[in-house]
Amino acid sequence: MAGKDNIMDKIISLCKRRGFIYQGSEIYGGLAGTWDYGPLGVAFKKNVENLWWKRFVLDREDIYPIDAAILMNQNVWKASGHVDGFSDPLVEDIKTKKRYRADHLLEASGISAKGLKLSDINSKIQELKLKSPDGNPLGEVKQFNMMLKTHIGATEDSSAISYLRPETAGGMFVNFKNVLDSFHPKLPFGLAQIGKAFRNEIAPRDFLFRVREIEQMEIEYFIDPKSWEKIFDDFTEQLVEYSKDLGLDQKKVHKLEVAPEDRAHYSKRTIDFEFDYPFGREELWGLAYRTNFDLSAHSKASKAPLEYFDEETKEKLIPHVIEPSLGVGRTMLAILTDAYREDELGGEAREYLKLSPKVAPVILAVFPLMKNRPELVKRAREIYLDLRKKIKSINPHLSGQIVYDETGSIGKRYRRQDEIGTPFCLTIDFDTIEKDGSVTIRDRDTGQQERVKPEDLEKFLEKKLN
Ligand code: ATP
Repeated sequence: MAGKDNIMDKIISLCKRRGFIYQGSEIYGGLAGTWDYGPLGVAFKKNVENLWWKRFVLDREDIYPIDAAILMNQNVWKASGHVDGFSDPLVEDIKTKKRYRADHLLEASGISAKGLKLSDINSKIQELKLKSPDGNPLGEVKQFNMMLKTHIGATEDSSAISYLRPETAGGMFVNFKNVLDSFHPKLPFGLAQIGKAFRNEIAPRDFLFRVREIEQMEIEYFIDPKSWEKIFDDFTEQLVEYSKDLGLDQKKVHKLEVAPEDRAHYSKRTIDFEFDYPFGREELWGLAYRTNFDLSAHSKASKAPLEYFDEETKEKLIPHVIEPSLGVGRTMLAILTDAYREDELGGEAREYLKLSPKVAPVILAVFPLMKNRPELVKRAREIYLDLRKKIKSINPHLSGQIVYDETGSIGKRYRRQDEIGTPFCLTIDFDTIEKDGSVTIRDRDTGQQERVKPEDLEKFLEKKLN
């Protein structure tokens, strides 16, 4: 396990050093379960989101994007069952007062906690006399609600309670009727959104894997229940395709059919997409057929008629829902752990990220061989500015940047780009100026360089970046 922890440590350190991701509130000692994205992290995150947005929103005719408020009327979360039931089993080390997920402690001792009620988890922990990771006795297992509660306005009584939404889904259910009334879509159709959600996780862990402030990409896809199986299969396939868009090693992506006893009571089918992280195989995304539980519950509690009128059959129905739910951070973590490499190049050890050009924050770096030679710098700047203009026609789907760098030795500059996963570096050298204008393009993975003539440059990049 030490080796695996080591890899996580190296990735976390690379992310901090190179401006991808920093610990939240770091100068004050941090705040557990929060992370801040730096310049390269923002670009990387946007690429992950843009690929999702393209596949699931822009390339389809049946998905309506929305951006709902994070703060919602508390009745939304009463109706959805979150106020009463969105909880995890919590147990306390009676000496240190540190708190743990009771189900996770049970699982760490080789006993599955799936489908177990709180009282069963408690009895098993007491029977086995399980100890905390610090070796101390544990107290009684209690339910712990994971919603982050707050008060709206100047009063603090119960009518002012609100919650930071624990999932983006709620904002879509309450806008179902609005979108229906504005656009009159026919079933099946979906609402999609990317946004923040908050969970007061008992034990945040493993970098971006379990955090308290989450970014989610979710779709609520409204259907006639007659066709649920085919639509469920289509989304399963689309999620696999999305994992390929991201460049994830398909051998590490797994589909877990969740057993009926482990599913939410209203769900008729759930598939967890799992990923082989360095710390083991764990959930990446979820896909669930939620029946018409949500719209029925909101309709009943709000008294709004959340129905759909079928023009053909002249019947009303409360649509059923298929929900693909993806965490942006977990997706980024899967990509980072998959892409992290250590090797030796030209007799020197190096660390690099083997990122696909589709997600890399920088897709091409342009260098003059030396910065103290004005003729090299001038030509490098010209090529850099020209390619920045042309990159969208070379490949409109790439969101990564083209950057210019002249500081430090050329070897150091290559290493810096390797570390952040830049697939290609373009260098202007003396041959560029004195001979045929050709430049060198170096491949991140092999370190090999090719000379490319100026007239072939766009074609060359088109081939490499598509
Ligand atoms: P877990 O069992 O790991 O807590 P979950 O089944 O509760 O996850 P969902 O409620 O289905 O998760 O949330 C949908 C997606 O949101 C997850 O598949 C994951 O990608 C992401 N997600 C949920 N909770 C977290 C978290 N605390 N940190 C990071 N991502 C999360």
